[in-house]
Amino acid sequence: MNFLDRFRYSYDNLKELNLSKVENTNKTNFNNPILKSLLSTSVKVTPEIFPKIDKSIKNVFSKLELNNNFNFFITANHTQSQASCAMMPESNSAEIIITSKLIELLNGEELQYVIGHEVSHHYYQHNLYPTPNQAKGKTELLNLLHLSRASEISADRAGFLGSGNVENSLKAMLKIASGLGDEHLTFNFSSTLDQLRELKEIKGDQNQLYSTHPSFLNRMQALVWFSMSNEYHEYFETNKKGIYDLKTIDQKINDSIKKVIGEELDISTKEIFSSALMWGALKIFIADRKFTKKEQDLFEKNFGEKSTISMLSLLKISNPQSIEGRIKSALDEASNLLLQDRERLFKEIEKLISVAEGSEDQIKNSLKVIKETLKV
Ligand SMILES: [Zn+2]
Repeated sequence: MNFLDRFRYSYDNLKELNLSKVENTNKTNFNNPILKSLLSTSVKVTPEIFPKIDKSIKNVFSKLELNNNFNFFITANHTQSQASCAMMPESNSAEIIITSKLIELLNGEELQYVIGHEVSHHYYQHNLYPTPNQAKGKTELLNLLHLSRASEISADRAGFLGSGNVENSLKAMLKIASGLGDEHLTFNFSSTLDQLRELKEIKGDQNQLYSTHPSFLNRMQALVWFSMSNEYHEYFETNKKGIYDLKTIDQKINDSIKKVIGEELDISTKEIFSSALMWGALKIFIADRKFTKKEQDLFEKNFGEKSTISMLSLLKISNPQSIEGRIKSALDEASNLLLQDRERLFKEIEKLISVAEGSEDQIKNSLKVIKETLKV
C-alpha cells in the first residue's frame, strides 16, 4: 500500500455509486492507439532531449515512491496550459501529455505538482470511473460529476506530495488558471481566498454543478487545508502539529465546493430519498396486503396527513400491480443515490418492521426486495 491510499479524498470513491468500473481487457501496446498517435506526433521525454523535465519526473516518482511505467510526451500547444493522463483501461502503464505552454509557464518544482497530479490519476485508476456522458439520468449525471470533481481533489494532493512543497503547488495552480508566469505573478494566497469569498457571497456559479473539475479556488483552498491536516504532518514527520484531522478537512472541502456549485444535488437527493422512504414504508406496511388502522396512524406520523390521505385514496382506486409499480419506480430512482444515502434510507425503512402488522415472513420478504433494489 502506498501512502497515496491514505491521503485519497474520501468523496473520491466509486463504491458510493451503484455503478461498476469500465471493463476492458485490451492490454497490449500493439493495440494502444493513444501511444501510436503520440509517438508519431509528439516528442517523447528522454533525459537526452529534455534533461530538466526528466529531472522533475524522476523527483516525482522518488517522492511518491512509485515505479515509472509512464511515457511522457510534450506536444506543441502555445495557447493552452494543459497536462493529461491518457491510458488504456486496466493498463499498468500510461501516457502523460504536457503542452509546451505549460512547460514554459512552470518552474521545475511547479511542474512536479502537475506530474504528480497526472500520475495519481493512473494510480487511483480514475479512468475506470464511468464518464458523466454515460449517465442514464440526471441523478446519475450529478453524482458522476461529483465523483469526477472529487477525483481532482485526490490528484491535487498527490501533486503536492510529488512536488514536496505546498507553495509551489499553489503557484502552479494560479499560473495554470491565469495563463501567466513569474513576470506578472506575485503569489498571495489570502487574495485568492478573497476571490473565493466573493464568489460564495454572490451565491456561487451554478454552471459549476456541471463541471468535471472544481473551481481552481476550491482546489487551492482544499490543498492548503490538506497541508494543515494532522495526518499529513504525522506521516511526513514535519515536527509540526496539524490543525484538523483529515475527515474534518474532507467535509470542509465538500461544503466549500457546495457553496460554489449550489445545493441542487442535495435538494434532488432529499426529494428522491423522502419519496423512496414513503413508498418503501408502504411496501412494508402492505406486505400482508392489509393497511391496518395502526399502520395508517404510523404512516401519518411519519409522512403527514396530506400524504396519508392521498395514499389511501390511491390504494382505493388502484390495483395491487400498479401500486407495486409505483413502489418499484421510487426505489429504482433511489438506487442512483450515493451509498451512504442508500444505507441511511434502508435503515429508516428497516426500523418499521418492528411496528408493521402482519406475517413476519411477508414483511421480511418485502424488506429483502427493498434491500436488493437499493443495492445495499
Ligand atoms: Zn486531473
